[in-house]
Amino acid sequence: MPGFGSAEIDELYKMFYPRQWFFRHVAQTSPSPLALEIVRAEGSRLTAADGKTYLDGIGGISVCHLGHGHPRVRAAIHQQVDAYLHVMVYGEMVLSPQTSYAHRLASLLPASLDCVYFTSSGAEAVEGAMKLAKRRTGRPGIAAFRHSYHGSTQGALSLIGDEYWRSAYRPLLPGIQEMEHGSLQDLFRIGTDTACVVAEVVQAEKGVVPSSAPWLQALRDRCDAIGAMLVFDEIQTGFGRTGTLWAFEGYGVVPDILLLGKALGAGMPLGAFIASRECMEALSTDPVLGHITTFGGHPVSCAAGLAGLEALLTEGHLERVSGKGQLFRERLQHPMIRDFRQAGLLMALDFGHADVNQRIIARCLAKGLLTDWFLFAPQCLRLAPPLTITPEEIAEACQIIVEACTEEENVSESQTETAV
Ligand code: PMP
Repeated sequence: MPGFGSAEIDELYKMFYPRQWFFRHVAQTSPSPLALEIVRAEGSRLTAADGKTYLDGIGGISVCHLGHGHPRVRAAIHQQVDAYLHVMVYGEMVLSPQTSYAHRLASLLPASLDCVYFTSSGAEAVEGAMKLAKRRTGRPGIAAFRHSYHGSTQGALSLIGDEYWRSAYRPLLPGIQEMEHGSLQDLFRIGTDTACVVAEVVQAEKGVVPSSAPWLQALRDRCDAIGAMLVFDEIQTGFGRTGTLWAFEGYGVVPDILLLGKALGAGMPLGAFIASRECMEALSTDPVLGHITTFGGHPVSCAAGLAGLEALLTEGHLERVSGKGQLFRERLQHPMIRDFRQAGLLMALDFGHADVNQRIIARCLAKGLLTDWFLFAPQCLRLAPPLTITPEEIAEACQIIVEACTEEENVSESQTETAV
């Protein structure tokens, strides 16, 4: 694409070439991106440049828990934009959006999780937590689980539970112990050199696999016995996704450090690692500025996140998650669906084969429903709609999926007949 350097011509190009610019000038993460050009998003609907609308079945991968353009979130953003945007690197000034949000989060968490370090993303929260655990325990090792995803920075990538995704980027962090999620035996690999164990309560990218309560308790007990810190990554499961505000609530097991992200900013970029005040102090001395960030806890993100949290709690969305999850479960009946795993409104439809899944995802998209697959479960279709999705929209989404399954079934059958 030639660059003419003229504003008028640039405007003309903007009308005709966004897709070409996307492929030419925006860095790609796969050879076959979705490349849908979205011009508007409201509630559970996305509108594309060609006027076609899509039901959002994934909410920006568990980010848009209140749907798109929630009025209270938008109002809070406008208000904060008018007051101030960025004034100083994180941690130096009293910024009311940060302090109010930290205070509110602390009020909704166990007493031992009362100090919030805001970051700009989930992976940065993982990085901060690993540093905090090393600093606090004086130990070098980190343990994590097979088929868990914690982010794409080099530290977080070191924890990724699948060699396919990490091998090209070695050397990564040393001293990482990989364990099988759910294995009692593997807990004995947590040793006296382990600073922390990073775990998901519900393994999201494995295709929605919840922990068993006795195993999670055994993990907690092992960490206590050996002096390792327990870190729960609730970046994908926090803020009501699984039916309770935090997924760990249902288990009665409290981590030493909690990681939040995604829905934390209600559509704005925000992450956090949360620990006790006493523990977090380790990052402010010896050395001073033990963990710093320029944009972490951006005032506009914090204002949006707090407004989103209040909306979640006061508008009844949280209470309705399990009922809505039940509606999905009842309506998603089809012989092509070999397994249906669910934690509230985080759902995996297992089709047994990645290529079948890809074709069903494509059929759903053509029929106006946006879905996705999982990093460690490519044979599973991901559903993580806004928690605000209506029963009518659930019915519509399920009908599209069932139709897509039937079409796929018919094609596979006719291919088998032709082969015979
Ligand atoms: N942990 C989990 C469980 C996640 O799902 C993600 C994002 N998919 C991350 C960490 C990383 O968050 P981010 O992309 O904001 O860095």
